[in-house]
Amino acid sequence: MIRPAVIILGAGAAGMAAAAALSQEGVSTLILEARDRIGGRIHTLNDPAFPIPIDMGAEYVHGDPQATWKIIRDAKLIAHDVPFDHYELRGNRLVHLENFSEELGRIMTGVPKADLSFAEFLRKHKARPDLANARRLAIHFVQGFDAADPQLASTQSIAEEWEGIGDFEEETQHRILEGHGSIIDHLHRSLDRKRVQIRLNTPVSEISWQRSKVTCKAGRNTFSARKIIVTLPLGLLQIPPDAPGAIRFIPDIPRKRIAANRLASGPVVKALFKFREPFWENPAVGRAVHVKEGLKKAVFLKRARSAISGVVDGVAAATVDADGLGRWAEGAGRWPGFRGRCSSIRPSIRSRSCFISLARG
Ligand SMILES: Cc1cc2nc3c(=O)[nH]c(=O)nc-3n(C[C@H](O)[C@H](O)[C@H](O)COP(=O)(O)OP(=O)(O)OC[C@H]3O[C@@H](n4cnc5c(N)ncnc54)[C@H](O)[C@@H]3O)c2cc1C
Repeated sequence: MIRPAVIILGAGAAGMAAAAALSQEGVSTLILEARDRIGGRIHTLNDPAFPIPIDMGAEYVHGDPQATWKIIRDAKLIAHDVPFDHYELRGNRLVHLENFSEELGRIMTGVPKADLSFAEFLRKHKARPDLANARRLAIHFVQGFDAADPQLASTQSIAEEWEGIGDFEEETQHRILEGHGSIIDHLHRSLDRKRVQIRLNTPVSEISWQRSKVTCKAGRNTFSARKIIVTLPLGLLQIPPDAPGAIRFIPDIPRKRIAANRLASGPVVKALFKFREPFWENPAVGRAVHVKEGLKKAVFLKRARSAISGVVDGVAAATVDADGLGRWAEGAGRWPGFRGRCSSIRPSIRSRSCFISLARG
């Protein structure tokens, strides 16, 4: 057993990246992870039932995040473009949104320095009648793509994020052929085994800390180091210290709790469906929704609160809120060629809780 200089709490992308950086600097670390696997909200399923690796959590590389691209290059992974074309369902007709980028661009000008919620920004600064369509698309995008509540989401952060993505039509999004989990695998492989230890199935419940000494309690075990890096999901840090399930910090960290409580993360549920055949490639489906070129390249069909993404080789991933899942299933059931049994994919209490457990991290 190594004597770690640093404990890292959580073996998700943040924890594994921190471990890789410290390992490179020759610092000994101990990673404590509650689950029986590393990766956190990145979880690729390699199941013979599916023709490709399936991402249960994060799936797309949005824009140009340097750290992610460095790993993709170093690990020689294949990241393929995902078209970012937009269609809107009007009645039973799918309408191509020709000027999607320009419309969003009309909204994201003149963002004031003093931050305000996206809904308030639209009300105060973008109320002109000629912006009605742009406003509607922007709200859909904030809800559908960012999984954010416009009443709560910060306009500054939305603007920053959209700027990072770049031109929505020109700048493609990417999907890693081997699955997002290959990023975690690469980080894992890069760790110096003599200096880094990972303990799975170790949910930490208490962290006692002082300058240059920290002790973590997990069940009957305690672990000590000089420093700690905490990469727990936001939701956990927002639980009041005395509430069930909270992580206790001794002494408590009130300023950090205040900061955590000012942040919010959109609730997302991802459901994966495997279809017997790619029904959307059937020309009759394209005709039924009035799309001349068909739906062969359909990747991200979204409604305000729900989306089908990554329709590849007979596998569709729907990223929806829990209620949206039922609505989507009902909608899909009306498509010609769709042979899924919708009743079996309505969100039952059981499926809800397992989706939610993944979404919460
Ligand atoms: C369905 C879904 C789809 C997504 N799609 C995308 C996407 O397409 N592109 C994108 O960029 N991002 C996407 N995201 C977001 C992305 O997955 C997360 O931002 C990222 O994985 C978070 O990494 P993290 O290390 O910060 O947190 P996490 O991955 O949550 O890691 C935290 C770790 O801490 C562990 N932990 C929790 N409690 C304890 C405890 N008490 N003791 C020890 N360990 C504990 C958890 O088990 C977990 O492994 C998606 C998220 C979800 C849920």
